[in-house]
Amino acid sequence: LVEVAGLAKSFGDHHVLRGVDFTVERGTATVLLGPSGSGKTTVLRSLNVLETPDRGRVRIGDAAVDFAALPRSKAERRRTVKALRARSGMVFQAHNLFPHKTVLGNLVEGPVQVQGRRREEAEADARALLAQVGLAGREHAYPAQLSGGQQQRVGIARALALKPEVLLLDEPTSALDPELVGEVLAVIRDLAAEGWTLVIVTHEVRFARDVADQVLFLDQGVIAERGGPEVLVDPGEERTRRFLARVL
Ligand code: ATP
Repeated sequence: LVEVAGLAKSFGDHHVLRGVDFTVERGTATVLLGPSGSGKTTVLRSLNVLETPDRGRVRIGDAAVDFAALPRSKAERRRTVKALRARSGMVFQAHNLFPHKTVLGNLVEGPVQVQGRRREEAEADARALLAQVGLAGREHAYPAQLSGGQQQRVGIARALALKPEVLLLDEPTSALDPELVGEVLAVIRDLAAEGWTLVIVTHEVRFARDVADQVLFLDQGVIAERGGPEVLVDPGEERTRRFLARVL
């Protein structure tokens, strides 16, 4: 479903990504791990074109962008990027909900305003998604009335409301109090079990072992090791071993 090839990105003379290649099969969970500053967030943001790589290609479904050969015309460029962006949904570290909108309002905003869907239909879908993340009945609450874990679950439902082909999660639990982490991880596990395609940046190694079909270990802007979840139990690379020894 997802193909990334030769992804490279520098900020000034800092080469954050130095040729990242991977693929993601439909219905699988890929976990990106690695030390702080290794480029994990930049990879994820590049898939959604929140970051524009200097080089490399990203394909999601039938939308593809070659960042070394973006269309010349601004309108054409915008169209190409938009087509790719529409295929993924992003869950941020902090949920970024609209504070002045209810939970339901947050969920239907994108589908109605961006995708032009009918409000009644978007609301029905939103209610089903809220049930899925364990928040049935909370549609009229405002974000500030919810716990951090509930807010993040709304954040996940909001990303799913746009019906993305792949859900990108950027350290979805790192801003949460420890006692709220479990409920959010449980929701993500359910999504994986249901067959959603997920790409997750996380520092939760035990969770990664449980949920990952594919593990990508990033170090200094390249994938230093990749494999199934067994990579997190018995890594082949010294760099991975050292990282795991630090975080476990
Ligand atoms: P963490 O686990 O700490 O979130 P990460 O692996 O996700 O780290 P990135 O956030 O992708 O790493 O960042 C990689 C490097 O790129 C970091 O050194 C960061 O300082 C740098 N960087 C990221 N975004 C920018 C930016 N907009 N301008 C300059 N430098 C940036």
